[in-house]
Amino acid sequence: MPEENVNMGSSSKILLQISVAVTSIWSVGVPLHHQVWYWDMKLPVKLLKQDVTWIIKKGDIVSVPFNVACGRCKMCQRQDTHICLNVNPERPGGAYGYVDMGGWVGGQSEYVMVPYADFQLLKFPDKEKAMEKILDLTMLSDIFPTGYHGAISAGVTTGSTVYVAGAGPVGLAAAHSAQLLGAAVVIVGDLKEERLKQARSFGCETINLQEHDDVGEQIEEILGVPEVDCAIDAVGFEAYGHGTDHEDAPAAVLNTMMDVVEAGGKYGIPGLYVTEDPGAKDKDAKQGSLKVRFGLGWSKAHSFSTGQTPAMKYQRQLMMAILNGKADIANVVNATVISLDEAPEGYADFDSGAAKKFVIDPHGTLSK
Ligand SMILES: [Zn+2]
Repeated sequence: MPEENVNMGSSSKILLQISVAVTSIWSVGVPLHHQVWYWDMKLPVKLLKQDVTWIIKKGDIVSVPFNVACGRCKMCQRQDTHICLNVNPERPGGAYGYVDMGGWVGGQSEYVMVPYADFQLLKFPDKEKAMEKILDLTMLSDIFPTGYHGAISAGVTTGSTVYVAGAGPVGLAAAHSAQLLGAAVVIVGDLKEERLKQARSFGCETINLQEHDDVGEQIEEILGVPEVDCAIDAVGFEAYGHGTDHEDAPAAVLNTMMDVVEAGGKYGIPGLYVTEDPGAKDKDAKQGSLKVRFGLGWSKAHSFSTGQTPAMKYQRQLMMAILNGKADIANVVNATVISLDEAPEGYADFDSGAAKKFVIDPHGTLSK
């Protein structure tokens, strides 16, 4: 893309905006929610009033978090980049190509404009080493920090017993994060055997939620007690009932966690909940209002944490874990490379529950 054709945007608040070529992107279950990372920077020189090459140079490889964040506001200054106050006129927090998240253009494309690039980019220190770990590093822009945030906010630490609801990519990333944090046992629950097999491939215990409607009893078979120290909801409002009840049950995971987390425990909730769900069968659920057994949670003195991950808070540590061979995130989520043209098929496969994380490679860089 010639630099003169780059759309410079209209916001006077954006101090540095650059155009970048996309090396690889991974896609998540929410349509148009995209995660990107880039290389071969093309600086829009018209915007630059000073030399900023001390930050980035043409040809550098960097990660871009999916949260768009300004780096100047109160939230960004305390590292809460998922609720930046300057990137979405409707509410705190913005994201690329995500419904209702500030109208930023998505990144499942050949080139992307990155606002606030002086703040947002994580440069990989060694280009050659980065290319060796390219599939793992692609996960830094969203899925890995999302799972890690779930584990951190659940209070996972050395020796914890952890229940992870959902064996999709977020659940698998959360399970791997719990292992990195030293969990003694990580139990992953899902309705699909193929996904559970993927969870077992890296050392998790699993429970098939189709077989039973009492998660506590299934946990007891593994741990000897019907409770865990903490839990992670990697499903969100699109939950189904357990056992033979496969109807939509948007509060099913929350109620399960209140049931199986021990007194004083915490749960992290990276799974998505919405302010409105027009497709819901239940009148209350249409307005994002769920039937949660809050009294049970209260009586057990539970704590929980909601919202998207502040990806920038974690990405440097997770990059170091990847570059030094401690994290195996691409294998954990079964990263599968496809071309940009194959993206619609990738979405269809993902929607059907395939135990894969599709990575889009628009310039064929990964296959070279
Ligand atoms: Zn901000």
